[in-house]
Amino acid sequence: MSKARPARQLPAVHELVKKAAAGRERPYPAGLLTAAVRQVLAAWRRAILERGEVPPDLDGLVREVRQWVEARLRPNLRPVINATGVVLHTNLGRAPLSVEACAAIERVARGYCNLEFNLEDGKRGSRYDHVERLLTTLTGAEAALVVNNNAAAVLLVLDSLARGREVVVSRGELVEIGGSFRIPEVLARSGAILKEVGTTNKTHPWDYERAIGPETAMLLKVHPSNYRIMGFTCQVADDELVGLAARHQVIVVEDLGSGALVDLSRYGMGPEPMVQASLAAGVDIVTFSGDKLLGGPQAGLILGRAELLRTLKENQLLRALRVDKFTLAALEATLQAYVQEEAEQALPVLQMLTVTPTRLQQQAVDLQKLLAGRLGECAIDVRKGSSRVGGGALPLEELPTTLVELRPARLSATDLAERLRRGDPPVLAHIQEDCVLLDPRTLQVGEAELLVEAVAAALSDGGER
Ligand SMILES: *Cc1c(COP(=O)(O)O)cnc(C)c1O
Repeated sequence: MSKARPARQLPAVHELVKKAAAGRERPYPAGLLTAAVRQVLAAWRRAILERGEVPPDLDGLVREVRQWVEARLRPNLRPVINATGVVLHTNLGRAPLSVEACAAIERVARGYCNLEFNLEDGKRGSRYDHVERLLTTLTGAEAALVVNNNAAAVLLVLDSLARGREVVVSRGELVEIGGSFRIPEVLARSGAILKEVGTTNKTHPWDYERAIGPETAMLLKVHPSNYRIMGFTCQVADDELVGLAARHQVIVVEDLGSGALVDLSRYGMGPEPMVQASLAAGVDIVTFSGDKLLGGPQAGLILGRAELLRTLKENQLLRALRVDKFTLAALEATLQAYVQEEAEQALPVLQMLTVTPTRLQQQAVDLQKLLAGRLGECAIDVRKGSSRVGGGALPLEELPTTLVELRPARLSATDLAERLRRGDPPVLAHIQEDCVLLDPRTLQVGEAELLVEAVAAALSDGGER
């Protein structure tokens, strides 16, 4: 039996603690260091006993302990460089905020603010007042409310106005967005009863008409954000639905998903439904996300008739879905850009969507030059390609761009992409035909230089690790 050996191969806790702490300018937190040593030693004890592995020497153990501690001292949520060209990348945090929106967050974060305090009369105020007037001014809606995200907005609308009653939805609009948000399930959660009408590809006005009965609360229209049904199709237009609903005294609610405030068809994109158009057509309530095409923070915007919004504001559920002061600060600054008619210049999402192909080509060529000056053993070319809007908006849109193509000599593209992802800062890029592709569209100001350094580090021996 060699069970006594492992204990002798491994150092004592105090010995490893002392060695790992030695020579540090800024000492590690004592509790964390001890925890690290215990973890590392326990893991090795198991590895020796169960798999007969040979532990590293003292220096090797010290390295493991330091890595363990440093991983916990470093923020886990950190900036990444998005070189994928997907503008609204849900996994990368969707919309980057404007300079003004970031400054607004900082201003309210550092101290106190009038979040729920009316400075005019010294009484209690509502957090929702700060952006309501901006939203009604911009869209023509009677009233507005903001919650945590669009999923919460839909849930609140259904819970407030259709609990225990029927909601009529076209079969072509029973969508799933990003895995966890499915219209039929949100409906069920809210206690509303789903009444499906029409077929996947075609729904006609009479389909809705036949489904409306005494238990009907609303007609719900859902923008099928992330997919398209092509070919032999038919969905009922807003104004037709509104007329139908009025005749039967039910309301029309539209989940717009992205909900654009500026007409992107001006820039050759689209069509993506506009918030103002739905409201002008007479839709009673529209909901959309704050961090998709609007280009602001994560939020769910609810606009529509004052009387209906009052019911929403009185719903106890609102307390669980409410937005915090950072969101409101960022949203107010974002909406200000629209009021000032500077949205395309001020908001990163709109900048990235509307930047000209000529400018992107220039950026790609500049990036290629920077890279060529820094890298050996890697072919660097530029070529035409396309970027995506992302975030479920305009799923078929191919935005023309110029890509920088990296073909490393000694690595596969997959290996290079992995090293880039694990680097500091992490870089996310697409791979195609054994090339790593860098799209300048989604690079932020000043990121090109960081990107070049990250690529150089990834290509140097062993990259970051
Ligand atoms: C994106 C989307 C949602 C969910 O919005 P979140 O803000 O991510 O909660 C709901 N409905 C539609 C149609 C969407 O496109």
